Amino acid sequence: MAAQSDAFMRNSPAFEAEVHDRLIAARASCQGKIVFTTSFGLEDQALTSLIAAAGSATDIVFATLDTGRLFPEVYDLWAQTEARYGIIIRGYAPKADDVEQFVRDQGINGFRTSPEARKRCCSVRKLLPLERALRDASGWMTGLRADQSQARAETQFIQPDPERKLLKISPLYDWSRERTLDFARRHKVPLNPLHERGFVSIGCAPCTRAVMPGEPERAGRWWWEQDAAKECGLHVGSDGRLVRDAKMQAAS
Ligand code: SF4
Repeated sequence: MAAQSDAFMRNSPAFEAEVHDRLIAARASCQGKIVFTTSFGLEDQALTSLIAAAGSATDIVFATLDTGRLFPEVYDLWAQTEARYGIIIRGYAPKADDVEQFVRDQGINGFRTSPEARKRCCSVRKLLPLERALRDASGWMTGLRADQSQARAETQFIQPDPERKLLKISPLYDWSRERTLDFARRHKVPLNPLHERGFVSIGCAPCTRAVMPGEPERAGRWWWEQDAAKECGLHVGSDGRLVRDAKMQAAS
């Protein structure tokens, strides 16, 4: 793995080598387990490729939240990604009792009836599984980019998440979508074919649509809601803010 990492460093543009250094710095910043939660979108696939290239020195656990409502293309890409990089991506599913109860209460697509109903679905299908995925972790790695939306503009490389009591790590925080796409093309990173059909940010199938040219990246998520933040709650604290006032900029 060290040889693989060295070769990556030698052959990479500076910004890719910089992310490699960030992965190593993240490992040094966290005492314990680092969990990378992927949703198999463009950024997460690029980051998976970079983590795989960095090798065992980063010692990062791959995980995904299997909500039960994902596109079939996501499951195909999950398998393809495991095969391509020789990794296992741990799936965290919602508890069956929880899903049965809230579907009984609000109907199979009841999340369309109100923001509260939608948040309850996201809580059962995403937030509670995320808690299990991050149990005992001291670092939570994400593919967030600061320019994905106004709500994500404060994203930094490393910032504390006081509610989960861990460090949140976003090594691609200063990448643009164009840079990420360019990286994916040059490294032949497997991508969700839905991207080619106008799906930019891809979440659960019933809550994601393609966007028109010029629309914001996350306009296709919960498009029937007026809340401009377009967040499911994974990256939002109890204060409603996406990120806290983190001053822990890592050495990068
Ligand atoms: S994105 Fe939609 S289907 Fe998925 S958990 Fe949230 S409300 Fe439920």
